[in-house]
Amino acid sequence: MKKKIAVILGDGIGPEVTEQSIKVLNIIAKQFKHEFSYEHALMGAIAIDKTGKPLPEETIKICLASDAILFGAIGDPKYDNDPTAKVRPEQGLLKLRKELQLFANIRPVKTYETLHHLSPLKPRILENVDFIIFRELTGGIYFGEPRGIRTREDGEREGYNTYIYRESEIERIAKLAFELAAKRGGRLTSVDKANVLEVTQLWREVVTNVAGNFPEVDLDHLYVDNAAMQLVRAPKQFDVLVTGNIFGDILSDTAAMLTGSIGMLPSASLNANSAGLYEPVHGSAPDIAGQDCANPLATILSVAMLLRYSLDAPDAAIAVEAAVSAVLDQGCRTADIAAKGDVVIGTEAMGTAVLNALEGPQGNQL
Ligand code: NAD
Repeated sequence: MKKKIAVILGDGIGPEVTEQSIKVLNIIAKQFKHEFSYEHALMGAIAIDKTGKPLPEETIKICLASDAILFGAIGDPKYDNDPTAKVRPEQGLLKLRKELQLFANIRPVKTYETLHHLSPLKPRILENVDFIIFRELTGGIYFGEPRGIRTREDGEREGYNTYIYRESEIERIAKLAFELAAKRGGRLTSVDKANVLEVTQLWREVVTNVAGNFPEVDLDHLYVDNAAMQLVRAPKQFDVLVTGNIFGDILSDTAAMLTGSIGMLPSASLNANSAGLYEPVHGSAPDIAGQDCANPLATILSVAMLLRYSLDAPDAAIAVEAAVSAVLDQGCRTADIAAKGDVVIGTEAMGTAVLNALEGPQGNQL
C-alpha cells in the first residue's frame, strides 16, 4: 500500500527520537512491501521561531492531506520560563487536535518483565499487564462553558467550571473503544462517577446503549475512585478502559507508573476517520536534548500504533512491538531504563538495535 505520513519533529528531543522511528518505518516498508512518503511540517517553538505561529496553516494542510501524523514533542524553556508569552508552543498542539477533531486519546499500558525494577510497584502486580486507556480528549470539564472566576454578591471570589458531555460525544468514543475491545480481549471497562455526577450518569447510559451493538464485548462500569485503586492493586484485570477527559488524564498518568519510564510510553489521538496523530507521551525534555541519550522506544512504539490504527497494518505493528521486546530482552538500555551495572546505549544505538531485531539475527529477511 502507498501512504502519506506527515512528520512533525518539533522541539528538544523530538527530532532525535523521531529520526529513529522513521528508520523503523522505512524498514517496515521494505519488509511488508509498502510505500510510505513523508512530508515534514512545523509546530511548536521551532514554528514560532520560523513563522511567528506555533501551528502554521501549511502544517494543518499537510496533516489534513496525510493518512497519519508522526509527532515528536514540542516545548522550549524560553517559553516555559516566560508565563507572559502570548504565543506559546503548546498552543500549536491544542489547535491541531481541534482542527483534526482528534477526540480519542489512546494510551497502551504494557509492562516488560525486564523493566519491572523501574516501577515503584511490586513485580507480582506488574506481571502480564497489557491494557489500553481510551480518554475523551476534546470535551468534558476542560472545555465546558461557562467557566471562570467571579465575585459573589458577598464579595468573596469563586472559581467555576462546567462538566458537560453531549450524547454524540460519548457515543463516538464508546464506539471506538468497543471496536478495539472486540479485536482484543473482549472486555471493556467504562469509568465514571455516576453516583455523584449527572453528566456521568448520562455517560453510563450511553455507553450501555452502545454495548447493544457489541454483544461479543463484556462491559462493566467502575467509579473513578475505585478504578484508580484497581489500577495499582490489580492492573492485569483490565483489557480496555474508556473514560472522559479529566478522569482519563489522571488515570493514564497513574497507569504510567506501572511501566516505570516515560521514555517507554506511546500514544495516539484519533478522529472518526482514524487519521491519527501518533506521539510519545513525554515532552521535549530540554534537559537531555542533543545529547544522544533520549529513549526512542516510546516513539518507535507510537509507530506501531500508527501502523495498527491508521494504516491498518497489524502484522507490521506486531513486528515492531516484538522488535522492541527483543531489544529489551537482549539487555539494550538507554539511561532512563538502566539499572545499576547495565551498559547504557544512546538514542541512535537503541534505534539501530530495533532495526537489527526487525531484520533478524542474520539481517537476511529483506
Ligand atoms: P518531559 O516529558 O519533557 O521530561 C520529563 C523528564 O523525563 C525529564 O527529566 C526528561 O529528561 C525525561 N524524559 C522525557 N522523555 C524522555 C526520553 N524519551 N528518554 C529519557 N528521558 C526522558 O516533561 P517536562 O520536563 O515537564 O517538559 C519539558 C517541555 O516539554 C515543556 O516545554 C513542556 O511544555 C513540553 N511538553 C510537551 C509535550 C508534548 O509535546 N506532547 C508533553 C509534555 C510536555
